[in-house]
Amino acid sequence: MSGGTRCNITQATDNRGIVAAYGAPGKFLHSALGFLWRSGDHRVFEAEGVAVKVEETGKIFPVSTRHSTLLQALLNRLQRSGAELALGEPLLQMATTAMGFTLATPLRTVTTPCVILTTGGQSYPGFRHKR
Ligand SMILES: Cc1cc2nc3c(=O)[nH]c(=O)nc-3n(C[C@H](O)[C@H](O)[C@H](O)COP(=O)(O)OP(=O)(O)OC[C@H]3O[C@@H](n4cnc5c(N)ncnc54)[C@H](O)[C@@H]3O)c2cc1C
Repeated sequence: MSGGTRCNITQATDNRGIVAAYGAPGKFLHSALGFLWRSGDHRVFEAEGVAVKVEETGKIFPVSTRHSTLLQALLNRLQRSGAELALGEPLLQMATTAMGFTLATPLRTVTTPCVILTTGGQSYPGFRHKR
């Protein structure tokens, strides 16, 4: 939303700058942002061939100003990682087993030693009600 549909990648500052902009409650962000900076923030996209620009406000955007540019970069990286992307296949049930976890979708049951849940949330709950 801060980018007005142009896909704002990040701000031209470091993790301390972002925490400071968030205000006093932002201390909890230090560990996650510290990891992000070590792994490269917008340089992740540049490494995938995405040209980025820094605006006067410090906001960093893809030069294309299209979210599809960033999506394709992430998909390229995902493909190289060997991970499988399963779309349109919601997780219905998850159970622990002696070996790890069993995941049930409408299409299959998967067993796996570990699970990372990233089901999102309401990034800006007020936005939904204003539409
Ligand atoms: C209008 C708008 C504009 C924004 N603009 C920007 C911007 O310019 N720059 C920026 O950095 N951020 C922006 N954001 C914020 C950004 O979109 C979110 O912070 C980000 O998408 C959160 O990522 P996430 O992976 O945590 O969750 P999500 O992107 O919400 O992903 C969670 C995924 O989990 C899936 N899921 C949920 N339940 C299940 C289930 N049972 N089984 C399988 N899958 C499931 C969902 O379908 C979804 O695909 C914007 C947000 C909004 C609403």
